[in-house]
Amino acid sequence: MNCPACTPKGTILYQDEDSLILVPSAPSIPGHLQVLSKTHNKLVDLNAEQTQHLFHLANYTAASLFEVLQAQGTNILVHEGIEEHAVLNVLSRKMEDGLSFQWEPKSIPAAEMDEIAQKIRDQIFPNAEKRPEKKETAPQEKIIQIEKQLEAVKDKIVDTPEKENYMLKQLERIP
Ligand SMILES: [Zn+2]
Repeated sequence: MNCPACTPKGTILYQDEDSLILVPSAPSIPGHLQVLSKTHNKLVDLNAEQTQHLFHLANYTAASLFEVLQAQGTNILVHEGIEEHAVLNVLSRKMEDGLSFQWEPKSIPAAEMDEIAQKIRDQIFPNAEKRPEKKETAPQEKIIQIEKQLEAVKDKIVDTPEKENYMLKQLERIP
């Protein structure tokens, strides 16, 4: 497999059995570092311990940049793309360094915002004061619900292979 992160281009600064920190061969600015998982796992697939370790390394690196490179600020950006590794970009920022991550704030109707917040609260953080646990499996009732929905639309998707494949793929992801 041609995986750039398995054979990283750049200067390796640190590594342990799970992760490595490197200066990428094509940095966006001086003081651009990457913290990578060595295993083929995107960030969303890492367990709590692995996630904690990667962010600890990123945080340690970012904190050090203030001293070593006289950074005036830092960014930690998660890169989740086609690569099969979790990649945290740590950027040492200075005024006028030419990088811009600014976006224009949008004005979204209050009702719509409330609806989104409500949905996230109900489905992701139902226990507001309890640390969320990563969902390893879909709850049984959800699977039954999906199966019923699929059964109901089966006739409609047989002649649209693309849709069918998509829905089958979604189903296959459920353990
Ligand atoms: Zn790889």
